[in-house]
Amino acid sequence: RQQSERAAAHVDCRTADGERIEVFANLGSVAEAQVAVAHGAEGCGLLRTEFLFLERDASPTEDEQLQQYQGIASALESRPLVIRTLDIGGDKPIPYLPLPAEENPALGLRGVRTSLWRPDLLRVQLRAILRVQPVEQCRVLLPMITDPAEIRAVRRMLDEVRRELSITSPVQVGAMIETPASAVIAGRIAREVDFLSIGTNDLTQYTLAMDRGHAELAHRIDGLHPAVLNLIAMTVDAADEQDKLVAVCGGLASEPAAVPILIGLGVRELSVVPTLVPQLKSLIRTVTVDACRSLAQRALSMDTAEAVRALANEAMAPAR
Ligand code: PEP
Ligand code: MG
Repeated sequence: RQQSERAAAHVDCRTADGERIEVFANLGSVAEAQVAVAHGAEGCGLLRTEFLFLERDASPTEDEQLQQYQGIASALESRPLVIRTLDIGGDKPIPYLPLPAEENPALGLRGVRTSLWRPDLLRVQLRAILRVQPVEQCRVLLPMITDPAEIRAVRRMLDEVRRELSITSPVQVGAMIETPASAVIAGRIAREVDFLSIGTNDLTQYTLAMDRGHAELAHRIDGLHPAVLNLIAMTVDAADEQDKLVAVCGGLASEPAAVPILIGLGVRELSVVPTLVPQLKSLIRTVTVDACRSLAQRALSMDTAEAVRALANEAMAPAR
């Protein structure tokens, strides 16, 4: 079975009733890009660029960043590469970026807030991203967005950088939906960008007010909580209204129990752990959009994550 799954992993993925679902990979290095391609990923839906900034004495130069991004773009051949701007915060301290002391780092300077607080670092990163060849292969993704003004501020800088580099083609920009604020006003966020990408790890943490690394609460930090699912539904509906693509790149997209629900909520692009691409594609091929829709509708009205999980597992049983 595994061998045929591997072969099928390189074929475009459709549900049993023919709906196209794109399966991308989340990456954090050049090596992972090769693994992703070998496993049939259709591109990279989330490059976590933090790996470039950690464990060093100074921030990586424009050329150092370009070399890494170019290596990943080349390893992906012509597949799309979504590069997320630096998502660093007080919980991942880096010596050359002293952040003010924070009592609640998860609620402090992180993601796009850090980038706008240190625009010099953002400018270098945007220049490196825009110098990758071919320039159309890369898209820019902004983490921890809470309102459209943040996007407009980054876009202003992006336009300056495009002029500096004489880039005439547009550069696609996306916003991560990973705060409840951005999900609630997803329509207004979607207006400012080309695509949305839902980060279920942080969206779950901030919606449930439970630290994503908390050991005692770990069993309750579940993206299938109906509150999280309702925020995902709001986001997809708002994006659909404006014909903007919405992907899910958080951990929920890598969970077999969650994938039919996400499809039922209208998600058509997943970005997942590279080695899970074959398994998830073969799961998707067994479901129909209609069945996913009714499953999702039921999930939205349940009252606990546990109940949603029981429902999802029951629905998946015949597919196993
Ligand atoms: C997320 O929050 O779901 C996400 C994809 O980003 P990260 O896990 O890197 O915070
Ligand atoms: Mg996140």
